[in-house]
Amino acid sequence: MATDLEAQLRAVSLRVTRPRLAVLAALRDHRHVDTDTVIALVRVEYPTVSQQTVYDVLHALTRAGLVRRIQPAGATARYESRVGDNHHHVVCRSCGAIADVDCTVGHAPCLTASDDHGFVVDEAEVVYWGTCPDCATERTAQ
Ligand SMILES: [Zn+2]
Ligand SMILES: [Zn+2]
Repeated sequence: MATDLEAQLRAVSLRVTRPRLAVLAALRDHRHVDTDTVIALVRVEYPTVSQQTVYDVLHALTRAGLVRRIQPAGATARYESRVGDNHHHVVCRSCGAIADVDCTVGHAPCLTASDDHGFVVDEAEVVYWGTCPDCATERTAQ
């Protein structure tokens, strides 16, 4: 698997480094994680990595397009490695759980703005807000 991740880095002309591989591996296995969680996951395999290194790696990977940063209103930024498909997110108002929602009409931007003001639109990001199944169960159990 490490070779897949190395190929991803090389494809965007990023040097293969241990922290970059560790962050990519963490995001491959865990979706929509915040920075603290990424640091904790990376430290399982690589205990000596600094917070700053993980911040820098997330920034570099996001800029290179290997990682997507999402930040629902009022929530902390989350990262995921599912990129390039213009998918959307559904967010739980109670616990902040996030799940993927596929693009509604196939490909970006998947929504037509009623007035694009002359902009060339290439992406649309929709956040659906609601209550996740766990929180809904909790609510009815009370
Ligand atoms: Zn919830
Ligand atoms: Zn997602």
